[in-house]
Amino acid sequence: MTSSSGSSATSSPRVPPSPRVPKGRPENLFPLFAEAVKLPGIGPRLQKLLEKLTGPKVIDLLWHLPSGLIDRRHRPHIIDARAGQVATLDVTVGPHKPTPRGSRAPYRIPCTDETGEITLTFFHAREDYLRRTLPEGERRIISGEVEIYNGLAQMSHPDHILTPDEAQDLPPYEPVYPLTAGLSGKVLAKAIQAALERVPELPEWMDAAWARQQHYPAWHEAVRAVHQPEAPDAIEPRHPARARLAYDEMLANQLALALVRARMKRTRGRPLTGDGRLRRKVMDHLPFELTRGQMLAVAEIEADLKEPYRMLRLLQGDVGSGKTMVALMAMLVAVEAGAQAALMAPTEILARQHAKTLAPLCEAAGVRLAVLTGRDKGKAREAIVQAAEAGEIDILVGTHALFQGSVAFRDLAVAVVDEQHRFGVRERMELSSKGVAGTDVLVMTATPIPRTLQLTAYGDMDVSRLTEKPSGRKPVVTRALPLERMDEVIAGLARAIGEGRQVYWVCPLVEESDVLDVAAAEDRYAGLKAALGARVGLVHGRMKGPEREEVMGAFQAGDIDILVATTVIEVGVDVPNASIMVIEHAERFGLAQLHQLRGRVGRGSAASSCLLLYKTPLGEVAKKRIATLRDTEDGFVIAEEDLILRGAGEVLGTRQSGLPQFRLASLEAHADLIAAARDDVELILQRDPELESERGAALRVLLYLFERDEAIRFLRAG
Ligand code: ADP
Ligand code: MG
Repeated sequence: MTSSSGSSATSSPRVPPSPRVPKGRPENLFPLFAEAVKLPGIGPRLQKLLEKLTGPKVIDLLWHLPSGLIDRRHRPHIIDARAGQVATLDVTVGPHKPTPRGSRAPYRIPCTDETGEITLTFFHAREDYLRRTLPEGERRIISGEVEIYNGLAQMSHPDHILTPDEAQDLPPYEPVYPLTAGLSGKVLAKAIQAALERVPELPEWMDAAWARQQHYPAWHEAVRAVHQPEAPDAIEPRHPARARLAYDEMLANQLALALVRARMKRTRGRPLTGDGRLRRKVMDHLPFELTRGQMLAVAEIEADLKEPYRMLRLLQGDVGSGKTMVALMAMLVAVEAGAQAALMAPTEILARQHAKTLAPLCEAAGVRLAVLTGRDKGKAREAIVQAAEAGEIDILVGTHALFQGSVAFRDLAVAVVDEQHRFGVRERMELSSKGVAGTDVLVMTATPIPRTLQLTAYGDMDVSRLTEKPSGRKPVVTRALPLERMDEVIAGLARAIGEGRQVYWVCPLVEESDVLDVAAAEDRYAGLKAALGARVGLVHGRMKGPEREEVMGAFQAGDIDILVATTVIEVGVDVPNASIMVIEHAERFGLAQLHQLRGRVGRGSAASSCLLLYKTPLGEVAKKRIATLRDTEDGFVIAEEDLILRGAGEVLGTRQSGLPQFRLASLEAHADLIAAARDDVELILQRDPELESERGAALRVLLYLFERDEAIRFLRAG
């Protein structure tokens, strides 16, 4: 494997970098990327709290947007002040009434204006402090929530106490921030105001006409406006200042993805053309025809492979939609062209299952296939590695370690990466920069991604979708039952097993503890064995690979009737005869996860069912999840619903889902801006592919600002 950094694939000569284009992070961003503790008034204790809440840097404070506003402009006379309202009052301080010794009563200070009286109350008061800030007989501006106590107006611990001279410092609208335990709103607001002092003016990266049309302020003004709001609608996501920041973030995201993509397109791949001879042999051996969707996907891949640049394509298809066949066809094109292909799975079990599925087909076509995982050690491993290097293996199936380890191919042309929940933009960049130069990459995911997210997560890739299931599939009947009816369920299973059917029984995730998961699964395993006397198997994540595979193998072979499992079976495993899926504590699973699990059944010709056992009472969200599952089997519909129920960050059920985490943009409120940003980026890169113009230089600053600067490496003058 060679590093691709030196292999500029374009034929044009290297353009010397423009002197305008800075190298590395621009200096005027340094203050923003300093630790927050460098700001006045922020000590180590506060730094710790901030790290937890916002992140460690000054910029993290700026990205922490207010969640509400307090209107300080409401300035009634005392007589007009209403309980529960925040009021700013202009009062004369009356005689202090300190807390009598030994009493728990508050310290009280009656204040008046020409219309009435209000009492300020303070618990655990320090008298000297109160006498200093509220001297008897003087005018003060106080602001806080008005209460009525025993029929009298009262304000306890006003938010602000100001002299008439200071009154103009009172912001008209005070931002309210999301907080964490131990951090007060006042302290956080002060820290954020200190961060605002560090905000530099940055060169404008936004298209001028677009900014005008959207009424966007300049970046530094926008940051100020969200933290120092001047109107009540400043909190709205579509307020120009907020929308601008959201757009900036999406622009940075889209630009980074587009640069990766452009790099792939620039990197010389080799035009691969297959003559179809191996594919025909495999097709002759298959008991089915490819679906229309599969044929279309294969055609798209074939077209990519013909091109002289590298392929980076995502194959999206629900569980059971038949992605493996598409992958095989793609790999066969490489083999027909005299090169090699690799298929990488996330787990050993899946790698071996793929190999098992593909081996007979490859054999029929005379294609040499081998499998290599972490389990292969010593001489056996050595033999496979050498064969791959010598070109004596056409298709190598393995775990992701294939690419990380020392495996070298004689001529690897196509790499397929399967079931990549955890394969983010960063990993793809790695694959394209130092992974395997010139290799065409097909990534397959079984997680349907809502269209809105697709652009943000996979904007660097071309996409093929398998939307229909192979024909002959019967729908899976989904039913939900309370856990109390488990006895009935077990009785039903006894009947089904008698008819030769096989069952998955999925045990719940116990929060953060795979030890407890396993305990729950072991209990259920023992219970089912006792109740049914049937052939019951158990697999869980703490079992050793070979042990787990033995059980899976027995289930696949039909030697086990019920397979009790933790979610290790979630991905990829294929046992067509298994037609019943029981999910215990279904309320603890996310929608996408339930859908994935259900996809394990309904693969054979028998009618299948999925039983969701839930603990009562069901919460609102869990109720909706279950209803959605009962209503549809369409993964894309489910993905959209999941997005609504959970919010974008969690859609794939894991933080390392490969989805970018947005701090300023909301996929619900700013969805239309994603498309605008994508179009914007397309134009930008058409005109200035290396970001060398003045706007290009500003856009580089933007990439640094949003820490998408890995993408800058993909520029020639990066
Ligand atoms: P995925 O990886 O998308 O979840 P698989 O590739 O494992 O799905 O395919 C699921 C099952 O469907 C396999 O048993 C496979 O043999 C079968 N299959 C694939 N394509 C077709 C087809 N065109 N017609 C009928 N069955 C198919
Ligand atoms: Mg699969």
